[in-house]
Amino acid sequence: MKKFESLDSREVSLVEKDILERFMKERILDKCIENRKDNPYWVFYDGPATANGMPGLHHMVAKFLKDSFCKYKTMKGYKVLRKVGWDTHGLPVEVQVEKKLGFNEKADIEKYGIKEFNEECRKAVWENEKAFCDLTNKMGQFIDLENRYITYDNNYIETEWYILKKFFDEGLFYEGSKILPYCPRCGTGLASHEVAQGYKEVPVDTVTIPFKLKGEDAYFLGWTTTPWTLLSNVALCVNPKEKYIKAESMGYKFILAEKLASKVLGDDYKVLEEYIGKDLEYTEYEQLIPEIKIDKKAFFVTCDEYVTMEDGTGVVHMAPAFGEDDARVGKKYDLPYVNPVGDDGCYLEGPWKGMLVFDADIEVIKYLKEHDKLFKKQRITHNYPHCWRCKSPLIYYSKPSFYLEITKIKDKIVEANKKVNWYPSFVGEKRFGNWLENLNDWAISRSRYWGCPLPLWRCECGYDHMIGSIKELVDLSIEDIDEKTIDLHRPFVDDIHIKCPKCGKEMTRVKDVIDCWFDSGSMPFSQYHYPFENKELWENQFPADFICEGIDQTRGWFYSLLVISVFLKGVSPYKNVLVNELLLDKNGQKMHKSKGNAIEPFSLMEKYGADTIRWYLPYVSPVWTPLKFDEEGLKEVYSKFFNPLKNTYNFFSLYAKTDNINIDECNIPYEKREEIDKWLLSRYNSLVKYVDEEYEEYDLNKVVRAITNFVSEDLSNWYIRRNRNRFWGSSLDDSKKAVYITTYEVLVGLSKIIAPIIPFLSDEIYTKLTNDYSVHTSDFPTYDKSLIDIKLEEKMDYVRNLISMGRMVREEAKIKVRTPLSEAIIDSKVYNKIKDLIPLIKEELNVKEVVSEKDLTKYMNMTVKPNYKEVGKVFGPKIKAYEEFLLNADISLLNKEKEVFENTTITKDMFEVKISSKEGFNVGVLDNLFIILNTTLTDDLINEGHAREFVSKIQNLRKTNNYDVSDRIIISYNGEGLKEVINSFGDYIKHETLALEINEDSNEDNLFNVNGIEVYVNIEKAK
Ligand SMILES: [Zn+2]
Ligand SMILES: [Zn+2]
Repeated sequence: MKKFESLDSREVSLVEKDILERFMKERILDKCIENRKDNPYWVFYDGPATANGMPGLHHMVAKFLKDSFCKYKTMKGYKVLRKVGWDTHGLPVEVQVEKKLGFNEKADIEKYGIKEFNEECRKAVWENEKAFCDLTNKMGQFIDLENRYITYDNNYIETEWYILKKFFDEGLFYEGSKILPYCPRCGTGLASHEVAQGYKEVPVDTVTIPFKLKGEDAYFLGWTTTPWTLLSNVALCVNPKEKYIKAESMGYKFILAEKLASKVLGDDYKVLEEYIGKDLEYTEYEQLIPEIKIDKKAFFVTCDEYVTMEDGTGVVHMAPAFGEDDARVGKKYDLPYVNPVGDDGCYLEGPWKGMLVFDADIEVIKYLKEHDKLFKKQRITHNYPHCWRCKSPLIYYSKPSFYLEITKIKDKIVEANKKVNWYPSFVGEKRFGNWLENLNDWAISRSRYWGCPLPLWRCECGYDHMIGSIKELVDLSIEDIDEKTIDLHRPFVDDIHIKCPKCGKEMTRVKDVIDCWFDSGSMPFSQYHYPFENKELWENQFPADFICEGIDQTRGWFYSLLVISVFLKGVSPYKNVLVNELLLDKNGQKMHKSKGNAIEPFSLMEKYGADTIRWYLPYVSPVWTPLKFDEEGLKEVYSKFFNPLKNTYNFFSLYAKTDNINIDECNIPYEKREEIDKWLLSRYNSLVKYVDEEYEEYDLNKVVRAITNFVSEDLSNWYIRRNRNRFWGSSLDDSKKAVYITTYEVLVGLSKIIAPIIPFLSDEIYTKLTNDYSVHTSDFPTYDKSLIDIKLEEKMDYVRNLISMGRMVREEAKIKVRTPLSEAIIDSKVYNKIKDLIPLIKEELNVKEVVSEKDLTKYMNMTVKPNYKEVGKVFGPKIKAYEEFLLNADISLLNKEKEVFENTTITKDMFEVKISSKEGFNVGVLDNLFIILNTTLTDDLINEGHAREFVSKIQNLRKTNNYDVSDRIIISYNGEGLKEVINSFGDYIKHETLALEINEDSNEDNLFNVNGIEVYVNIEKAK
């Protein structure tokens, strides 16, 4: 027989720790999968995490969401594999190790040794692994931490090589020297999706500079936002279709765009000549900073329509090495390619040799001033891309780099995305969709050290060979290598040479590694070492039904996953994506260690328990809006949800134990249960239906809010409270059996529907109720349509609304609920609907009678008045007539917005209903529902109120004395004022308090104040 032990009352973190221990010992995740072994898969991919920082609360958010849906789908009968992933390569790790070793530039790494440096990187990625696993376990996430995938594993890399070779074989891999955003500190180019992650508003000095025409005393006024590129100036560019003028101003002659002239020169200038841009083409000027030699035709005006009339002068300075448009125009005019800047972002020649270009801006401006070549300097802020890892500003730079030509498969990528369900949908359509419409070829190579090496071998004869597997490398290698012990990282692969199939010479590997986003994006294949192993498993695990990460991944993981899978398989690797937004502090500020507002998840779990945090996270707001985290909110969900739930269970458990209930013998059929039982079952089944639908829509906010409301309002504050005396009843009749079985069924169901979100408490309640193994291996409940009785629910809503209005009326009239009133009056139409529930109203409002009345105006006056604030302007002088009109209008028509005055339909905001009750009555109104209480008090009513108050004092005393609920007592009292009350209501008091006798004596034990009457009371157990 089930024992219904009460809930563990120790500190919540201790309770969770014990449950977790059991989960781990019994390998609950294996059980959850084993349990469903013959069922269909529901496929989940874990976005790989970097463990090179401590886990924060934001990690907990994403992990919580992933976990909840995996648990939910398991309970729905699916087999859900959960392999954790670790992202281990790339700049994030390298930058961190460089910092640790005190390095400033790439040369430091080479000096230190690539082998040694990479060893440090390999170690660094595990620095906080334990903390991450700790977080995973303590928060109750079920995920396989043992059979994990690690992006630096040889097998993982081998799959990436396989994919890269496929790109190569299909002609979608090329070397280009496009202008590429380049991080001078990290010494590598970046892909456009990386650049998109690092825009920052920064101040910049823009300069307007005079370029002197050759052989004429006039100047082109040029403009640039990057003064440091002026050393490399080789041409100017104008828009061939726009108007330009030569203007005299301050004694000089300037050439600039007509549209921008007054902005640049002010009003005081004279137009000497007019041109269209095309007229100026090939006009020559003198070199601005003649500090470097140019050996090709340069310093003339070029034409291109990219020049706009929005800022500057309409004359743009050209440095083809440092800008995409500059490079394009440079090619068109065969301009010299001047790049005096090295890989470290410092000048290699000229007056600022050795200086970082961004630091040189100020020096260039100084130089221009000294040489009388500065027309104007202006500080503006602009949105400039920075390295997403090290935060250095990027340079647009022409660098040879390797590309995946994904623009060729763009249409397929865009189409594949349209089949994905995004939650919320606008992220997929707008943010991600727009990004895909403008995608560029993927700059895949990085001139770095710790990453998956680009498996490209190159011969001096011009032949390139891409290696696609370890075996191929071993077969072709000149050196003797062992397939089993080889490390595929640098520098080991750098030392392997292969024989050129074209000319027979030795081929050497290109030193680059690849973008670490390619690592994570290839995980659907690499995690299973596809196609070298696990082909069948892979078939079953592709594509994913579900992935979930933060909004920042639209340009990260979501993107790289999609590109690679569309290339290999022609479809998206995910069907449903849940995107969670940022975690903010309670004031809406981003959390940051440096700001001191970051929240550490471990101490929070220690204090409140993982369950509380997990319930709180989706409770605050939908996960796709920014979450403002406020610790006070944790306390709130605790009191709103956890307390009523635990109290309900404990209440059930207390009486079930006292009564020694065998729940299997309480099986009262539905038809024989009481109306309120049917009502609860209806509410419960409606809830299960709703919650199940919202889980399917990935909307946990709606799930937790609906359940919270059910538990606190319907279950605890209504059903249990209303039915306490059925639990107390002394004989186990059908009514008592029905209340037990109804509460039991609902609690079991509840423990299941909350299990995906709060894995600990749900398991404790479920196992204590059922003696089953675990809630997580149970099935999600199905709702029973036949038990949903909407009419009954509506009826109960009427009753509950009437009661809550009645309580407000009592408060207004300052009459305590314990003092009975003679009658409550309600509209006969309402009365007839709820006839059989009238006893509830009587009890809840403590009234002797509920009266049905056709004409409520007997008890109150209702007048309708204009809402002057709203209609003053609308009706103006007609306001008096409107007032008159309202006095005679039909209120029910007004409420339905069906009355018209002077061609205007009267809406609810245009009038106010003033209700005043007649003498001796008080009225409560909500929409069209009224309740009127007769508030005239007789002596009898007052005395009965005293008796009830006295009962409540005695009950408290029983509790303080620790009496059992069934103990019989003897009451002694000492107080004149109470005598009459005891005489009239003695039997009632005895019945309520299980007293055998009430005796008057002269004790002075406990002094009570019973509605203003002072009385000493003592109780003792009856022998
Ligand atoms: Zn960088
Ligand atoms: Zn060759």
